[in-house]
Amino acid sequence: MTETLEKETFSFQTEVGQLLEIVAGSLYSNREVFLRELLSNASDACDKRRYAALTDAALAQSGEFAITLAADAKARTLSISDNGIGMNHGDLLDTLGTIAKSGTGAFIEALKADDTDRPGLIGQFGVGFYSAFMVADRVDVVTRKAGEETAWLWSSDGKGAFTIEPAQRDEGGTTVTLHLKKDAREFADETRIRHIIKTYSDHISFPVLLGEETLNAAQALWTRPAKDITEEQYAEFYRHSAHAFDAPWRVMHNRVEGNLNHTSLLFVPGTQPFDLFEPERKSHVKLYVNRVFISESPKDLIPAYLRFLRGVVDSEDLSLNVSREMLQNDPQLTKIRTSITKKVLGELKKAAKKPEEYAGFWSNFGAVLKEGLVEDPALRDRILEICRFTSTGAEGLTSLADYLARMKEGQEAIFYIAGEDAAKLAQSPHLEGFRAKGVEVLLLADHVDEFWLQHIPEFEGKPFKSITRGAADLDQIEGETPQEETRADEADLSPLIAAIKAELGEAVKDVRPSKRLTDSPVCLIADEGDMDVNLERLLKRHGQLQDGAPRVLELNPTHGVITALASRATSDAGDEGLREAAHLLLDQARIVEGDLPADPTEFARRLGRVMALAFGG
Ligand code: ADP
Ligand code: MG
Repeated sequence: MTETLEKETFSFQTEVGQLLEIVAGSLYSNREVFLRELLSNASDACDKRRYAALTDAALAQSGEFAITLAADAKARTLSISDNGIGMNHGDLLDTLGTIAKSGTGAFIEALKADDTDRPGLIGQFGVGFYSAFMVADRVDVVTRKAGEETAWLWSSDGKGAFTIEPAQRDEGGTTVTLHLKKDAREFADETRIRHIIKTYSDHISFPVLLGEETLNAAQALWTRPAKDITEEQYAEFYRHSAHAFDAPWRVMHNRVEGNLNHTSLLFVPGTQPFDLFEPERKSHVKLYVNRVFISESPKDLIPAYLRFLRGVVDSEDLSLNVSREMLQNDPQLTKIRTSITKKVLGELKKAAKKPEEYAGFWSNFGAVLKEGLVEDPALRDRILEICRFTSTGAEGLTSLADYLARMKEGQEAIFYIAGEDAAKLAQSPHLEGFRAKGVEVLLLADHVDEFWLQHIPEFEGKPFKSITRGAADLDQIEGETPQEETRADEADLSPLIAAIKAELGEAVKDVRPSKRLTDSPVCLIADEGDMDVNLERLLKRHGQLQDGAPRVLELNPTHGVITALASRATSDAGDEGLREAAHLLLDQARIVEGDLPADPTEFARRLGRVMALAFGG
């Protein structure tokens, strides 16, 4: 990085420019949140310096960490100073000119979509440092990195460019000075400032000073007794520590005393964080040792399947000298993780007693939690207990226990169908026979379902059974619609089956009469020992499988088309129309499953020929 001693001008990254235009013109009614953002950054900076000083004494703060506010109503300025880590020339370029936060990137994406409610969006995502431009028409940042000699002035009017030049600052830290817009002079008013700090920033663990006066409680929120903390204080702390802008769905504040004391203040977000399904599967719970911030998201603190959690864990019993690298595989940390994991699963179990509220959690994070069924065999039963499923037999979601309670006389398995989305699965022809008998089927539409099903063969002695693979064991189950009635009009399919098999050859593994169909003429299933339909589809899509095994084509012996074809098959085995029909039936079964016909052009031609026969006379 070149560092000249002259004033340099830079333009903002395009996205920042777009963002700033919106921020500056915003009529957002909550613009006081800019102060929350700047205090949050000041507090993060103090945390970072305190951690850095653990390994480099030269960076230590000689006095106390503090965030100091100064307001000048006449000059219409407000400044926020911290004695934290500070920024050097490179840091300024990297952070205050670009968009580093994934949340802000998503914000920009959302903005690009038309018809968005822009002020609403700012409230939803927050724009961090740039929110200063909601109230200021110029922002000056004087900063000096702890341990370095040079200080810098970063300055911008928020209109496309910023400057950086050398400056004076006696010690490490940062001062952000806002030159307030005319209509924002209220933010230089001390009474107003006191009120804002109480509302948004009381939880900050460093003192926030206005002159001699300390405006906040200046005590780490998680160290205070839960009974003294309001819901709003928890929510503000969540937003600060998680860089989030929604409200937490649930707060879990616990202290564990024993051979490894620790306090955890964890939040389940109210909405899905943006990185939830990124391959890193990173968790975002901060680790503190005895109130000293150690790490943003240590790898072993929270299992990946609980990565939706936000918040902090603080333990007096970990060594303060522990470096971030040494944290990995630390047996103490593993103990804390186990304790926290059990606690969280316990709290979720409690939460599940209110099915309507739990449904919201489940739709946000259920797919993530289910990863634990494979990854944490020791806690598998506890996880399974709080899993919920879409089902043909229940409104909303069902637990496995409730499914078992509704099982029919003679039903020996927990039936499921797996696929891409529950609404489509609910339309599947494979369900027809089960529906007719009132036998419940779980609709599993998350990718992870295929994987835990490979590891968990049964629940309470009842095996999981896919209705798209193997025989449909419907005969032993007592049902409201006796199959015998329909069986009466069943055609003898043997000649038809022989004709279709001969025509389709290798394209199908077998052709059989179906017990699972009532309305549709055909469906495809996987043979008993073969890979199930949906898993094969997933593996193919991820390039892990070339060709699947051929499927079994099932024919509905009560369907008009099939009975008509069956009578034709007995009279004339070499029939051209019958051969066309065999291909059309197979393609039809594929289409119903959401796949393409093997050869779409040929399919269309065939359909044309058959229609010409039917309508052309
Ligand atoms: P976020 O806090 O979510 O990272 P912000 O837009 O609030 O996003 O801040 C961007 C970055 O600017 C911070 O991550 C930090 O690196 C830097 N920064 C902002 N304020 C300060 C400060 N007072 N001291 C040191 N660094 C700061
Ligand atoms: Mg911030």
